[in-house]
Amino acid sequence: MALPRVNAIVVGAGAAGGVVAKELATAGLSVVLLERGRWQSFQDHDHDELTSQRTSVLGSAFGPDDRRWRRVVRQGERWVQVLPSESAYQNNAACVGGGTFSYGAMAWRFMPQDFRLRTLYGDIPGSTLADWPISYDDLEPYYEKVEWEIGVSGSDEGNPFAPPRKRERPMPPKPYTAEGRLLYAAGLRLGLHPFPIPMLRNTVPYAGRQACVSCRYCVGFACEVGAKCGTHNTVIPVALASGNCELRTGCVAARVVTDQRGRATGVEYFDPEDRSQFQAADLVVLSASATETPRLMLNSKCKLFPAGLGNRNDWVGRNLQGHAYCGAYGLFERELYDDVGPGACISSMDFNHGNPGHIGGGILVNEFIRLPYLFTGIRPPGAARWGLEHKQFQRDWYKRSMGVKSAVQELPTFESRVEVDPEVKDYWGLPVARISGARHPRDRETGDFMTRQAERWLLEAGAIRTWRSLPGLGVSGGQHQAGTCRMGADPATSVVNQYGQVHDIDNLFVVDGSTQVNNGGFNPVLTIMAVAYRSAEYIARQWNGTRFRS
Ligand SMILES: Cc1cc2nc3c(=O)[nH]c(=O)nc-3n(C[C@H](O)[C@H](O)[C@H](O)COP(=O)(O)OP(=O)(O)OC[C@H]3O[C@@H](n4cnc5c(N)ncnc54)[C@H](O)[C@@H]3O)c2cc1C
Ligand code: SF4
Repeated sequence: MALPRVNAIVVGAGAAGGVVAKELATAGLSVVLLERGRWQSFQDHDHDELTSQRTSVLGSAFGPDDRRWRRVVRQGERWVQVLPSESAYQNNAACVGGGTFSYGAMAWRFMPQDFRLRTLYGDIPGSTLADWPISYDDLEPYYEKVEWEIGVSGSDEGNPFAPPRKRERPMPPKPYTAEGRLLYAAGLRLGLHPFPIPMLRNTVPYAGRQACVSCRYCVGFACEVGAKCGTHNTVIPVALASGNCELRTGCVAARVVTDQRGRATGVEYFDPEDRSQFQAADLVVLSASATETPRLMLNSKCKLFPAGLGNRNDWVGRNLQGHAYCGAYGLFERELYDDVGPGACISSMDFNHGNPGHIGGGILVNEFIRLPYLFTGIRPPGAARWGLEHKQFQRDWYKRSMGVKSAVQELPTFESRVEVDPEVKDYWGLPVARISGARHPRDRETGDFMTRQAERWLLEAGAIRTWRSLPGLGVSGGQHQAGTCRMGADPATSVVNQYGQVHDIDNLFVVDGSTQVNNGGFNPVLTIMAVAYRSAEYIARQWNGTRFRS
């Protein structure tokens, strides 16, 4: 059924889609925001660790559901079907707010170097490493916008590596936990420059929402007091209040429809009753995440674009990346765990760049609060994984252990990719995403280097036993998935331009983690949102009532 035409459809009400919907709606465009998930609330899942978005052994709290969604993943020589609650699915949340509903809320600006890695590190065999078409300076005003509109707490005091900024963040950081205080002193002794992790989290009442009450259920959970700042409790309500934005939840976009001139005319989707609908629009913005956006573009193939939209040169879905997560754990003689949420509080940027023999590096941070089930997976090599010994370890060390992690920057590769499966279909009969590839071997070397730095920090803090956890070799992505519709100036080696506009379709935009040229050595969401503000500003500026009309 065809619905009355609007100016813009935004697919996906997550980190980027929420920002774009708000910016376009408040600029006067009529917007339909399509989201496959629904509005969730804290009461829907409470503090159930086993369905949290981090330990989804009994299902993913905030979706998607195992009944209707699946993907195909390359494992060794085989293609294997996986469900959203399995880690190989590379799941993020599927609800209003997307990943920002349940995330850990670390709020990093990338460093100026992260935008010109190719210039810094040169041609790396086996990698498609490239410079971004924009610089840190281009993005700086938009980082500031995220920090003030969505809300970020933090301070750069004591951090000589902090990227330049024109304005302080609106809120101060939280005080260090007992772990943080121990690591701070140890970091200074080692000559490091420890500082508080910036967070999309109210530390004081801000924007009509209350301050964090330091509960123990943060990353992977909804915030029971609304102190975690996501798009669901900041920009999406503003978009709706403008009167120009209609949010349709439970609606699964199936494909972007194009006309014979190659312009997008709207989106076909399934409504909550599984009826097929067509929403016509002057322009379409895809913000469905770095796995689902390329899937939509590939599923939208037509006579004019037989390989899928934006895919003339086979770049859609390529360069899938996340982070080469790694780190070290330490056991301590005395109790040091004070159960004060969100737990993660201290970091060091001493090793993001300038590590001899390595390409890039990564941030070091202490771990989020460890909940009981999560802690059962934290064991030194050779320790029992079940039975009495396993239980005794849990009792003895739960409060006397600590982890330091690193999100190591990955080298993008052409082989790590999202395609659509030729056979497997989802509940609605749409070809599912199929994921394959491997990490670049240099990531493992950098990961090895970073685990040593983490271990050194723990030993200086007094650990009596430590062990290291290296990144795996398999395909990356996960909750930090990015890179699959790269932005660039050259249509032969990228999918969109610096504003997210698909090279050969003027009125089709990609605005989400897909466009990141690399993912930095930091959790990516602040950059995804900053790029979203910049792209939305461009769209609104170009908009003059007819500019994008077919
Ligand atoms: C538990 C957890 C912890 C995290 N911690 C951090 C952190 O501390 N710091 C940080 O920087 N990042 C963190 N992240 C990652 C961060 O949330 C993501 O990088 C970010 O949300 C990605 O933004 P996006 O706009 O690309 O996609 P998303 O936020 O995933 O939004 C995509 C939206 O599109 C919807 N969608 C997909 N397909 C369709 C379709 N066909 N039709 C309609 N709607 C569709 C999805 O349901 C979703 O709501 C975390 C994520 C999780 C889940
Ligand atoms: S630690 Fe703070 S921000 Fe996180 S869920 Fe608890 S109250 Fe909310």
